[in-house]
Amino acid sequence: LVRKSYASPPSIIRRRLSKIIEKIHEYDTIIIHRHKRPDPDAIGSQVGLQKLLQKNFPEKTIKVTGFEEPNLAWMAGMDVVADQDYQGALVIVTDTANTARVDDDRYTQGDFLIKIDHHPNEEPYGDLLWVNTEASSCSEMITELAIQSQLELDGEIARLLYAGIVGDTGRFLYPATSSRTFEIVARLRQEDFDFARMSRQMDTIDFKIAKLTGYVYDNLEVDEHGAARVILTQDILEKYGVTDADTSFIVGAPGRIGVVQSWGIFVEQTDGNYRVRLRSKYLPINEIAKRHDGGGHPLASGANSYSLSENEQIYQEIQEVVRNASK
Ligand code: AMP
Repeated sequence: LVRKSYASPPSIIRRRLSKIIEKIHEYDTIIIHRHKRPDPDAIGSQVGLQKLLQKNFPEKTIKVTGFEEPNLAWMAGMDVVADQDYQGALVIVTDTANTARVDDDRYTQGDFLIKIDHHPNEEPYGDLLWVNTEASSCSEMITELAIQSQLELDGEIARLLYAGIVGDTGRFLYPATSSRTFEIVARLRQEDFDFARMSRQMDTIDFKIAKLTGYVYDNLEVDEHGAARVILTQDILEKYGVTDADTSFIVGAPGRIGVVQSWGIFVEQTDGNYRVRLRSKYLPINEIAKRHDGGGHPLASGANSYSLSENEQIYQEIQEVVRNASK
């Protein structure tokens, strides 16, 4: 993917952005949601947008809602949002492809709903949508909104958006990283925030995660074409003292091995089902995710498996993808 940098974006994007800003002007209360099981881009785009709007529209009430993921508490906290806050409010959902994944069901309770996202637009919900699958991250899109609408940034907004972009690009490793991504992070880096601390934090793992990484490398099964899998049972999670959310720190680990092309991390849930984290270096695997109650990006998706035989089936589908590509 080679995306041209654009100081001034295509008119269709400009029109979309000005419509979003128009709607923001119209409402006194704005409530921002994002997806369940948040990652840095979910929080970065959600709270980055909140702080951006608070700075540029200080007279408005802007709130964020959703589960507070302890691993991401260093980024930002959530607000207490009452049911009545939704009356006559504008609701914006960031980084969330489908309604089932929106954290906090009350997102439908406002007066007008905007979707801002960079995942494939599988479920086009909302009264106004801005979906750009070429953007590396939703945080990149929020920064674009700020730049094109000439909104003021500050250090705290920049810290959140930068962290979101670093999260979703794997620190500029994944191919969705474009020349525009670099222009945007260069703009954010101009703001005054503790860059060293934020970068170090993004690279920090607990000791138990380091040990779990060892387990993943020790137990990874890799076939002759580079399809890989590892199963993390509840027993293993318990043994290493880690949560389901902690597996986000090891999901990229198999990709560091040269021969590995595409992989699945099968994480057993407390109900005995499996959350399957699918990743791939070059070959799309999101169709596999879609066939198994999930979805996501071409190279980073999530699925759900309801039996050991479905785990087997998913692994076979990964094997098929890499085998077909090696022909
Ligand atoms: P994860 O492995 O949970 O980090 O997910 C990787 C990507 O797949 C993220 O962009 C998610 O938004 C997406 N994703 C994960 N689980 C699901 C799901 N059940 N349905 C749709 N998309 C998902």
